[in-house]
Amino acid sequence: MKEWSKEGIVVVGGGLAGSEAAWQIAQKNIPVFLYEMRPFEPTGAHSTGYLAEIVCSNSLGSNLLSNASGLLLQELRIFNSLLVRIADSCALPAGKALAVDRERFSLAVTQHLLKHPLITVIRKELIELPKDSLCVVATGPLTSPRFAQALQSLLQSPFLYFYDALCPLIEASSLDFQHLFVGSRYSDPSSSGDYLNCPLSEEQYRELCHELAHGERVKLREFEKEIFFEGCLPIEIMAQRGPDTLRFGPLRPTGLIDPKTKKRPYAVVQLRQDNVAATLYNMVGFQTNLTFKEQDRIFRIIPALKNAHFIRYGQLHRNTFINSPRVLLPTLQFKANPLLLFAGQLAGCEGYAGNIASGLVAGINAARIFQGKEPVVFPRQTMIGELLWYITHADPEHFQPMKANFGLLCGAMEEPLPKDRTARNLFLSQRSLKKIEAFNQSLLE
Ligand SMILES: Cc1cc2nc3c(=O)[nH]c(=O)nc-3n(C[C@H](O)[C@H](O)[C@H](O)COP(=O)(O)OP(=O)(O)OC[C@H]3O[C@@H](n4cnc5c(N)ncnc54)[C@H](O)[C@@H]3O)c2cc1C
Repeated sequence: MKEWSKEGIVVVGGGLAGSEAAWQIAQKNIPVFLYEMRPFEPTGAHSTGYLAEIVCSNSLGSNLLSNASGLLLQELRIFNSLLVRIADSCALPAGKALAVDRERFSLAVTQHLLKHPLITVIRKELIELPKDSLCVVATGPLTSPRFAQALQSLLQSPFLYFYDALCPLIEASSLDFQHLFVGSRYSDPSSSGDYLNCPLSEEQYRELCHELAHGERVKLREFEKEIFFEGCLPIEIMAQRGPDTLRFGPLRPTGLIDPKTKKRPYAVVQLRQDNVAATLYNMVGFQTNLTFKEQDRIFRIIPALKNAHFIRYGQLHRNTFINSPRVLLPTLQFKANPLLLFAGQLAGCEGYAGNIASGLVAGINAARIFQGKEPVVFPRQTMIGELLWYITHADPEHFQPMKANFGLLCGAMEEPLPKDRTARNLFLSQRSLKKIEAFNQSLLE
């Protein structure tokens, strides 16, 4: 292996992955130089200079072990993830989900990293890869164009990309509470629940779907093909797929009873609390590429939103990621230069918790390389291990970012799985947690 600077490790990008990576490295008593271009260079989606800014939904996913994100979060806790610890400490009421006050979360991460004696935060856009440094690249889906160019020449292949979209945000005081009720799906009737639910009659639902499907959308540039990530489709694309797609998707009424009618509504738009003060709510599943004017018109079909004040409209953004199966090892090292590691959305991980996980692994491995140890591959049959295995072993011709899911854990079973879905997921979770605990112990020895 070629010589590199022993002064410390460079991390490029202070988002979710880069912040976790920097923390993990510093925990091993190794100096970190963390480059973050904000607030001097904007990304188009971030709005603060905080590290680990969460740009859209404030939910890190379900906390339940019968849910893939719940398992991933638990594995991250076992590995002492700073970001999950902070998320736990600023959790908001959100049913079984781990949702955070976004500002408190990023402020706390920023403060933790700034006060760490081994972490130097450098507010600067890197436009080329550092020479002779062990380096973790975590510049995210909105990697600055100049740095993307430098990466492009390193990778010698075009970046892949798809489109992802922001959900609209509404001021709570502008909602019409006559036309909504509080509750979580299947919640105990004695507890009030955490979501604001806007019930729709069949007629209102049909009108909403029609307008969404036919609304004017922001035009893409000539050279940009429309490639959406299946797990995060714009609401208008879902509406175009069929009259009942939304009613069986984000607008499903299952597990909800309208206290006024004592009946299950035909469809429901859910609003989720976005800040501690409960003054802001986001529209669950309403990521969209409709023009702002159309959003303003169409969303008012929902009776509770007739006079809504939109703090932010939904937006579309380009999501850049590399062809990880072609260029990365499951240790997250770049095959052609093992002193370079990739993490986060740029490496093809999807979802906040998945991005934190890849930052954690890249940080652990960069630290091991620095200390002259072998980098590790996280064990298969754990959510972290399978996620990273997937992004480094998927078909490179059709590679798309992947988020945590139980399908990843179901391969090559020695024993038959329980038939019931929840029982199956819990079984897989327990097996993963046993393996990850043992793996963590082995690293500590
Ligand atoms: C508009 C939008 C909405 C999204 N909504 C969701 C959602 O609802 N749920 C979800 O799970 N995921 C969502 N995502 C995906 C989300 O980006 C990731 O889950 C997560 O933020 C990715 O973490 P990351 O660390 O890879 O990138 P980021 O968190 O974006 O961090 C990358 C950092 O690198 C910095 N940077 C970029 N280039 C340079 C450079 N050259 N030099 C120095 N610094 C640089 C950026 O300023 C940024 O701070 C969304 C993404 C976008 C863009």
